[in-house]
Amino acid sequence: MSIVDNLRVIQERISAASLRAGRDPSEIRLVAVSKTQAAGAVNEAAESGQRLFGENYVQEFTAKATEVTEPVEWHFIGSLQSNKVKYIVGLVTTIHSVDRLSLAQEISRQWGRVGSCCDILLEVNLGGESTKGGATIDATLELTREIAKLPNLRIRGLMTIPPFFDDPEGARPYFRELKRLSGVISAAEIPGVEMAELSMGMSGDFEAAIEEGATLVRVGTAIFGKRG
Ligand SMILES: *Cc1c(COP(=O)(O)O)cnc(C)c1O
Repeated sequence: MSIVDNLRVIQERISAASLRAGRDPSEIRLVAVSKTQAAGAVNEAAESGQRLFGENYVQEFTAKATEVTEPVEWHFIGSLQSNKVKYIVGLVTTIHSVDRLSLAQEISRQWGRVGSCCDILLEVNLGGESTKGGATIDATLELTREIAKLPNLRIRGLMTIPPFFDDPEGARPYFRELKRLSGVISAAEIPGVEMAELSMGMSGDFEAAIEEGATLVRVGTAIFGKRG
């Protein structure tokens, strides 16, 4: 199937999962994850109406962004080194993968230089896997308090990448846990912090994520096919 066909099928599945969960499909935004895909694939998706794309690798992303001719919005979703933040200022509206104060400080500094504000999500490592980024559950509330004091960024919610399961139901308890943690942080009423977004769910499990409250689903291979 073509990218356009895949996008249509994914949108239908998003709508169906939303309705099953008693949610309005417009609450959920599809982040088309285009890492390792050529700019042409992004342009093709954008021409068919997809506007939001997610990228993981700074160098690949910045090169690709210059070749994308359609008006698109980019989110950065991959692990990010502080010394690379300067390359994505002004290119992305949201960073999903903030998991430490030092990174948030650099985002704040770089967005301050251009006089604007970056939306960020705090990445939580719910599975406690050492191979993955993300703050621990226990550290997340305090990290939120510290980051919230910084100018030029806005904490908009949480993101997680659960451990891998063949069965999408395996990820569901992690999605629930992220939602619970979001409620805990929300209840702390930290000034400037809005737990409006839950970024969770990928090609294999986005429907379960939507049923558990996702507002941003990050889908790559189900749209673009296998990565090279
Ligand atoms: C690659 C990636 C995705 C997309 O994964 P698929 O299984 O291809 O849908 C989502 N989120 C993050 C953080 C990724 O790195």
